[in-house]
Amino acid sequence: MNDTVVGRFAPTPSGRMHAGNVFAALMAWLGVRSAGGRMVLRIEDLDPRGNRPDATRLLLDDLHWLGLDWDEGPYYQSERGEIYAEALRRLEQDGLTYPCFCTRAELHAASAPHASDGTFVYVGTCRNLSAEQVAEKAQVRPPATRLRVPDADDLTGVIEFHDLVYGPQREVLARDCGDFLVRRSDGVVAYQLAVVVDDALMGVNQVVRGHDLLGSSARQIYLQRLLGYPQPVYAHVPLLVAADGRRLSKRDKDLDLGEIRAHEASPKHLLGLLAATAGLAECGEELSAGELVNRFSWERVAAHAQKESLFAPDAYQKS
Ligand code: GLU
Repeated sequence: MNDTVVGRFAPTPSGRMHAGNVFAALMAWLGVRSAGGRMVLRIEDLDPRGNRPDATRLLLDDLHWLGLDWDEGPYYQSERGEIYAEALRRLEQDGLTYPCFCTRAELHAASAPHASDGTFVYVGTCRNLSAEQVAEKAQVRPPATRLRVPDADDLTGVIEFHDLVYGPQREVLARDCGDFLVRRSDGVVAYQLAVVVDDALMGVNQVVRGHDLLGSSARQIYLQRLLGYPQPVYAHVPLLVAADGRRLSKRDKDLDLGEIRAHEASPKHLLGLLAATAGLAECGEELSAGELVNRFSWERVAAHAQKESLFAPDAYQKS
């Protein structure tokens, strides 16, 4: 059996990395390097509207600057459409999907909030449309494609897994998210499906990412089971928040690496602060990524990171 740890960086090139993105990337890298594993880089540029020109070049440059290297890639999701289409066809042929015509406004009006990640639980409006209704609605707008999840009393739709940081997790798909999108109405494959296909084909067996995606994992595990893929190990890491409790975001240009680098901060200074945030260093220590490898363990991170979010290191708060 090949038990090499294979992890990945999977950034979306929607802007410059901020301290929270660097934190997640550092944890992913340490998870791999501390186990002597292999790192894959995949650029998640699926959504043509979300990509910022130059963002990918800056991402690669920032990873180099940080000393977070990879062994394989970059792969570009924008070049893999045919691979996702094939997976989608398999789900369609198995009768697991249906066209959904709901608009965003209709979804908001008809849905209950998601239990964990704030997205909406789909109430099944388009689940049982007749062929005539589908044909009629298709004249008005192109449909998205939704995956049917098992009813709440069907155990195949109850997903349990162990997160290396947050411990045991359990989600009832029918109750916690409902039937979910695998293709958007503009034809772009949904993140959930692309990520599952890519992780499987790239041999990724350790998924490390921000806490905001913890709620996606059950959907991804369900897709892995339908498509016959192995289930990776999951480790979600806390999000970093600004002093006022607001989550760092690329849109607000919070603490982004452009600013951090412009202030002539060294990578060791930044990585030391982030490592201290994760309980791997003392405040004020300056450490390279390589120097952190021996200090890293998921137990240490988990002991320090039980909350959903941690305060971003002070030195980089915007005044
Ligand atoms: N591309 C996603 C992001 O940048 C991460 C996806 C994942 O790790 O599964 O937030």
